[in-house]
Amino acid sequence: AVESRDRLRIAIQKSGRLADPARALLASCGLSWRESRDRLFCYGETLPVDLLLVRDDDIPGLIADGVCDLGIVGRNVLEEQDAERLRGGATPAFREMRSLGFGGCRLALAVPESWSWQGPAQLAGTRIATSYPALLQAWLEREGIVADVVTLSGSVEIAPRLGQADLVCDLVSSGATLAANQLKPVATLLESEAVLAGPVGEFDGERALLAEMLLRRLDGALRTRHSRLLMFQAERNAIPQLLPLLPDAETPTLLQVDGADRLALQALCHGRLTWQRLEDLKRAGAQGLMVLPVESLLA
Ligand code: ATP
Ligand code: MG
Repeated sequence: AVESRDRLRIAIQKSGRLADPARALLASCGLSWRESRDRLFCYGETLPVDLLLVRDDDIPGLIADGVCDLGIVGRNVLEEQDAERLRGGATPAFREMRSLGFGGCRLALAVPESWSWQGPAQLAGTRIATSYPALLQAWLEREGIVADVVTLSGSVEIAPRLGQADLVCDLVSSGATLAANQLKPVATLLESEAVLAGPVGEFDGERALLAEMLLRRLDGALRTRHSRLLMFQAERNAIPQLLPLLPDAETPTLLQVDGADRLALQALCHGRLTWQRLEDLKRAGAQGLMVLPVESLLA
């Protein structure tokens, strides 16, 4: 039975790759907390939104059981546990609500560097070490391949050297860990990043309002992550050359300065304003270019 609460509870990783960015993202939504002495619970101060600090593997289950309302976890973990539930005949109990733009990696098959890769058919009869057996099994079935899935909870990449497996299915970001173990990635099963996970059903009462507000703020924070306010001046006749360089800008504001022919432009740009782009703008007639950070945005 789900206790009725009028506070929202979000599960995040206690320590690890997603712990700091998850907290920073929630803090950028205006949340702040007082931490319990055992560092497992953070009591929401500015808003009734509390954090539970846990192992990432526990997050989908906490949502499924209604212990937490939301969670920040890798898509890889969420999809693996979803696939596992599906195999066991259970109905979906959590879903991805937003992708958060950090913790990027992919779940990939990696074979010894000495192999020449001809395609998935080559995997028939091999032993594949992984911490993602449900996702791997589902992929093998889709490809029509029968192979031996060896489930390991950690140090998957050394399994081939230890003779436990012929190849691995593991998370890769830079590929350095694979290379250090003389493995090379050959196929991607899942593109992953940190996601906001929530229950399949709707929230009710106070928590519905809190969740709605949090999502609204989160969308603003995610959108402003790369957003900058761009300002410059230009002659009126240069504007047609300048606007095509700003395809990611929301309707720019044009202000007249010093008579009719000189304009000041300000535009909220959502893509990256690289030096290259600023130089292109300058060449097209922009003067006094200035890029400002966006503190908050409420659509
Ligand atoms: P926990 O103690 O919480 O169980 P963990 O060891 O399972 O921690 P981390 O290594 O901190 O987890 O990784 C958390 C998530 O970070 C992964 O599930 C994945 O989504 C993401 N990630 C990004 N890059 C990588 C990478 N190169 N290797 C592993 N995970 C990565
Ligand atoms: Mg884990």
